[in-house]
Amino acid sequence: MQKFSYHCHTDFSDGHNTIDEMLNRAEQLGWEEIGISDHLIVHKNVKQSLSWPRWEKSPNNHVYYSDFKKATDDFCRHKEDVLKAAKGRNIKVRTGAEVDYFVYDGWKEEFQEFCRQTELDYYISGNHFLQPDHGNNILDMKERELLPGEEIKKLLSFHFDCICQAIESKMFCFIAHIDYARKNPLCGNNDFALEKKKVIACLKHNKIATELSTKGLRKTGEYYPTEWMLSEIISRDIPLVISDDAHKIEELGFDFTEAEQCLQAHGCQNRWYYK
Ligand SMILES: [Zn+2]
Ligand SMILES: [Zn+2]
Repeated sequence: MQKFSYHCHTDFSDGHNTIDEMLNRAEQLGWEEIGISDHLIVHKNVKQSLSWPRWEKSPNNHVYYSDFKKATDDFCRHKEDVLKAAKGRNIKVRTGAEVDYFVYDGWKEEFQEFCRQTELDYYISGNHFLQPDHGNNILDMKERELLPGEEIKKLLSFHFDCICQAIESKMFCFIAHIDYARKNPLCGNNDFALEKKKVIACLKHNKIATELSTKGLRKTGEYYPTEWMLSEIISRDIPLVISDDAHKIEELGFDFTEAEQCLQAHGCQNRWYYK
């Protein structure tokens, strides 16, 4: 039974609980380790996005940054807070971030500088947005109304391309929710199968792990990734880690027993953990 999670959020980003509350709960669960991976979302044109008016009204509007300078300062402070909260506990606490990988010119170099300055223990990549105009713009993943369907389909296809670029960058220890795009009504479980298979092939080729996320189960009744993708991932012996993607204490370790059984039933032999 996996007694850790490297994918969870605190009220520093869009979680509901403080760092202390999350660590208390993880200790209660008897976990060996926990990684705090709050969102890093930095896009130069986030405030020009067609989706910005909606994001701006959200209680979590502070998660959107338009420059790395402020994000770097905030994450340095956050890391100190995590380390302070971790002191004297019976659990190993790691500092991380769940990163939206954007592909416009210059983003990657700025992110590398962010990594040098913050020195977090690890990064996972989780792409939550569509990236119009070759990545120079950003749009809500659920967007369906603002653009014609054919445009959205092109953006969905490009979204999987961006995930491949994140994998190929080798900057991430695992890739979160690779079929998160099913949040968009134009991306059903069997749509974009070629693109999804390309992501899986890319994981294999670059020897990068991915997650079995119980958040999918909580939110949609089905894991991320969906059944056929999970089968393909396991048959190709790609390393897997179970994640809860917890945004509150009740979600830590959510359905881990079922997830373990699911991996066993599929004959999964290759599990990822922080070395
Ligand atoms: Zn995510
Ligand atoms: Zn997450």
